[in-house]
Order: sequence, then structure tokens, then C-alpha cells
Amino acid sequence: MWLPRGCTSKYIVTHFRRRVFTSYFRVLGRRRCNVAAFMPEAAGFDGVSDRPALQDFSVSNSESFWAAAARQRLSWIRPFHTVQDCDLSRGQIKWFEGGQLNVSVNCLDRHVHTCPERVALIWERDESGSEVKVTYRELLEMTCRLGNLLRRHGVKRGDCVTIYMPTCPLAVASMLACARIGAAHNVVFAGFSAEALAERIRDAQSSTVITANQGVRGGKVTELKKTVDAALQSCPAVQQVFVAMRTENPVAMTARDVDMEEEMLKEDSVCEPTAMDSEDVLFLLYTSGSTGKPKGLVHTQAGYLLYAALTHRYVFSYHDGDVFGCVADIGWITGHSYSVYGPLANGGTTVLFESTPIYPNPGRYWEMVQRLKINQFYGAPTAIRLLLKYGDQWVHKYDRSTLKTLGSVGEPINTEAWEWYHSVVGDGRCPVVDTWWQTETGGICITPRPSEPDAEIVPGMAMRPFFGIKPALMDTEGKVLTSNDVSGALCMAQPWPGMARTIHNDHQRFIETYCQPYPGYFFTGDGAYRSKEGYYQITGRLDDVINVSGHRIGTAEIEDVLNQCSAVAESAAIGYSHDLKGQGVYAFVVLKKNVAVEGADLCQQLNSLVSKKIAKYACPDFIQFAQRLPKTRSGKIMRRVLRKVVERDLDGVGDLSTLDDPAAVQEIIKGHRDLCRKQQP
Ligand code: AMP
Repeated sequence: MWLPRGCTSKYIVTHFRRRVFTSYFRVLGRRRCNVAAFMPEAAGFDGVSDRPALQDFSVSNSESFWAAAARQRLSWIRPFHTVQDCDLSRGQIKWFEGGQLNVSVNCLDRHVHTCPERVALIWERDESGSEVKVTYRELLEMTCRLGNLLRRHGVKRGDCVTIYMPTCPLAVASMLACARIGAAHNVVFAGFSAEALAERIRDAQSSTVITANQGVRGGKVTELKKTVDAALQSCPAVQQVFVAMRTENPVAMTARDVDMEEEMLKEDSVCEPTAMDSEDVLFLLYTSGSTGKPKGLVHTQAGYLLYAALTHRYVFSYHDGDVFGCVADIGWITGHSYSVYGPLANGGTTVLFESTPIYPNPGRYWEMVQRLKINQFYGAPTAIRLLLKYGDQWVHKYDRSTLKTLGSVGEPINTEAWEWYHSVVGDGRCPVVDTWWQTETGGICITPRPSEPDAEIVPGMAMRPFFGIKPALMDTEGKVLTSNDVSGALCMAQPWPGMARTIHNDHQRFIETYCQPYPGYFFTGDGAYRSKEGYYQITGRLDDVINVSGHRIGTAEIEDVLNQCSAVAESAAIGYSHDLKGQGVYAFVVLKKNVAVEGADLCQQLNSLVSKKIAKYACPDFIQFAQRLPKTRSGKIMRRVLRKVVERDLDGVGDLSTLDDPAAVQEIIKGHRDLCRKQQP
């Protein structure tokens, strides 16, 4: 044995032993202090010495975990007495009862006390290079003035205010002003048509609407106020419309309309926050389901805010001083949780993106990353796929060295897009987090991070449940699949604070949709595969909901509109794989007997009907006219068959013996072939 000169073997043994012990304790010490430095609450959790143990604890001791997080991360007016009172089988979900707080105080006042001049919002206006920064002090002042204005106009606790605005600071202030005075908000995506807006205003029973004169996106102006005026023709309950000026162009104002900015100036800049119970409604957000009627999902105060804040901090590894760039519109849940509530609850700096990924050119995102020094970028696969096609040069042109984490949301991200995002946009340095969640879940539920910093990330997989999330996969008989390497219906086996509480005015629909399919579990409507390693991969919707460019739309909603055309007898809308949009809409239309016209004119008419009644993104990419649709003997349209035809999987059409008239399938196949020849789906 070789020994260093002058060393005895005894010295070596002692030295070695000391080294082993020192490093052992160093590792232990580092782990302990790491997990507490990572999440301070963990110091109080027994036996939690590393991140995997923290994850286990959050699920098996969910109450202790969430109670500690709620105490640590939210400012309470009155502490809660009960952590949770949930019964998934009855659709009863209550968190932090007894507690009172104000969400706007949590998002604004407490940060104004510590760092009033910190930038809260960076409004990345459509006009590139003209960003506007709003500090916490300024945002609080804006919110208070608006809160006072709403109060003066009679808006009170429990009312619901509809917001139809572009993504901008006044829209955020409107949301927070509602929260400040105890009103719920109902943000409607500003791309929705007058009819879709009207339906949501009526269902939410809003008597107050906040809008802007116009919207500007991708260099195009949209007439928001005019759309509101058209919508209100069928909303007699609306008494007042507050109008902000996004552009210089004046709009016609009626006795019902209030010039919002001018009136805000007359208000006091201090607004007493209302003490809200944890389970009071914070907002409604409408989303598509498998019926024609959109559902207003209800999120409440404390649980939602805590979940948005915690996921924002840990999934993206957001640190104080970082600039967070979520490019979603505030009209979707992603905009609510990760442009507004999560970042602001954490005292962060958040970007409000008003434009499109290709305006004025396909370098828009990355030029913005360079100019605003964005640290976390959160976008949709549909945009990534689009930008990939324009080539790497648009990315390489700009300095992206500030980026630390890249996020993906809204739909599955295919491997090619994931790899490009990772290697070209992130230069192979930044973890890519594919985040699975939905309007119903309030925040991210399955995603690769937080995990150990060097834990593997599999391209295109959401992989790991977030703290407190316990996914379960169900087989076709409703039994829990316990092994790995299996696929099933994705459910959640226990409640978490961010989940939706009900559907506005329709708790029975909430129970039937989410709680009854698998009693005792929350059913997400998605399917998932659990790999051999135990990682989750989302396989898509199990119901008649499709996902176009990350936006959910029920096929029934599209069919309802198509059927309103006087020439249409019946229709069936199907989702199909689309290179850029993820899914496109393929519509089968049967015309009434006496209608001879087919073709371009009618297609155009049907498309403009869908655009008018819902929104542009819901328009069919293909319309196939047919003599009849394949139906079961009981008269149900066989969507499975139509889907297979559109996917060109004729071998997969399966058993047709239950069809009323199997010849209908042959006609559909031929019609599809003819259309493809003309139009290439
Ligand atoms: P929304 O509530 O409009 O945000 O839509 C949620 C739906 O989008 C989910 O139920 C999924 O079908 C889909 N979705 C969202 N994120 C992902 C993801 N990371 N991977 C796959 N599908 C996703």
C-alpha cells in the first residue's frame, strides 16, 4: 500500500474516518439546510430532509403542509381555524375556513410596505419597444382609485363585474379593484364575439362591465366597445359600462357609459379593503365543456391565491428580482394565475404581453426577452411550433442569456417543439417545464419541477405531481390502476387549495362532471399514461372537447352554431391533429332537403357564423357536406367513426354492426377523400 511520506497507517485511518464523517455531516447539513432554504416551511415538517421527502410529506400530511404554507405566505386579517373541509364525492371543497383576508392587499399593499418602487407590471404593448412599467405603489394607487370608483357606482361585495379588456395594467387593476371591494370578476377573453360575451354576462348576472374603446393586437384594431354595445342589447340587467381608452380614437358613449380614467382621477388613492372570507368567490371564468353551454368555474379567495403563488414560485424557480414573462392573455386561466395572481402575490415583476408571437416579425418574443431581461418565459406549444418553422435565425439574433426556465402550457408539446425550445431558445441551459393543468385546477398540477435540480426531464412529458397533488389513473371499470406503464382516466385522489369550487349557478353540473364519474375522486376529463418510471404523460381529452391553439372548445358549442344556419339540418364537429394549432376543427354538415347550395359560399357563411357567435379560433378548418351522418340505431351520431375517417385510420373504424345504415360510412369516407384532394387537411 502506498502511503504519503511520513504517514502511518493509523494516521490514514483516522484521517479517512474524519473525512468520511465530515463529508457525511456536511451532506446531511447541506440537505437539511437546503430543503429549509428551498422552502422555509419544511423546517417544521418532521422527517423532511430533502425535496422528494417534502413532496411525500405534502401529499401524506396535506393539511399540515397547506396550513404551514398558508400561514407563511398569505397575510391574514383573521387566521383560519379549519385547514380543510372537503368531501369530493359531494363536490364540497372548503379551505382555510374562519380565515379572512383581502387578495389585493396580499398582491399589493404588503409589497408596497417593503418595496414600493419595485416594478410590478411591465406592459409589453403591441407596439414593440414601447413598454410601460408600473411599480407596486402605482398599481396600488390605480387599484384603489378604481375600487373607489366602482364602490361609488354601487358595486358591492358579492356582485360580479365582467371585464372585457386587452391585456394591460388597467385590466389587472380592474381585477384587483374587484378583489379589493369584495366583488367577483368575470374576465371574458377580448377575442370572443358579442354573443359569446352576452351569454357570459347574463350567466354571471353582471350589472357592471369594464371595457376599453378598442384593442390592438398584431397591428390590428378591434372594436371592443362596439362589441360590448352589441352584446348589451341582449343583457338588460347591465346598468353601467366603464370605458378605458387604449387608443386615441373616440367611441360613442351613452348615458350608461363612464369614462373610466377621467373618473378615476377624481377618486381617493386610498381604498379600504373589504375583509373577505376564505371561501368567498374571487372570480368566475368561463370554459368549454362537452355541452353547448360554457361553464363558469368558480374560484375562491385564499386557496386559489396560495396555490397560484406557490406554483409560480416553485415550478418556475422564481426568485425575488426576476422578471417573469407569461405571454398568455388575461382572458384565460393562465393569464389569471401566472400573469396576475401568482407573480403579484410573490411580489414579483410580471410581463403583460399584448401582442402576438410574429408581430412585427417572428423575433418578437426573443427581442422582448433581451429588452426586458426576462428570466422565466412561459408560452404555448402552438406558438413554439409556429416559430420553429420560421427558423433559428430569429432566435439567435437576440441575447437570451437572462433566461433560466422555459415553460409550456395549454396542450401537449410534441418532442420536436420541446427539443427546439430547449436547445435553440434555451441554448440547452434552461429546464423546460411542460405544465399540465386546467381552468378547474386553478394552477399547475403536473410538471417536471420542483424536483432535485438535476432530476431528469423527459421531453414532452409533464412528469411529476406538484406539492399536495396525488394523481390517480382509472381503468374503464372505474378501478384505480396501481401499477406503472399503464394508461387511464386522469383523476386527483385528494383535494388541493387551488381547485375550482363549483360551476356558477349549477353545482349539480359540477358534481356530475367532476365528482360522479369516479366517486371520491376529482375527474379531470383528460387521459394520461404513467410510464415505467412513474412519470405522467397527458394523452388528451376523453370527452368531446378539443384544444385549438391551447384554447378549449366543446364540439357541441360549434355544432350548436352550425345548426343555427337555416340551410343546415345537422352537423358534427371533430378535432383532428393540426401541425401548428395542435388540433383543428373538421365539421361534417348535412343540409336540409330543399337546399341545393354547397361549396365556398356556404362554407364562408358557416365560418362567419361561428366567428360571430363564438370566436375566430373556433371556426372549422374543413367543412365536409354529407347526405347523412353515421348513426347508431338509437339515433346517436357515431363520432368515433367520424374521428377515424378524419384521422385516416380506416382500419380503426371498428365494429359498425350497431350502425343504423353502414353505407353512410362509405359515403363519408368518399366525401373526405374528395375534400382532401381539394384542400389537403
Ligand atoms: P384550459 O382549462 O382551457 O386551460 O384547458 C385545459 C386543458 O388543456 C386540459 O384539460 C388539457 O386537455 C389541456 N392541457 C393543458 N396543459 C396541457 C399539457 N401541458 N399537456 C397536455 N394537455 C394540456
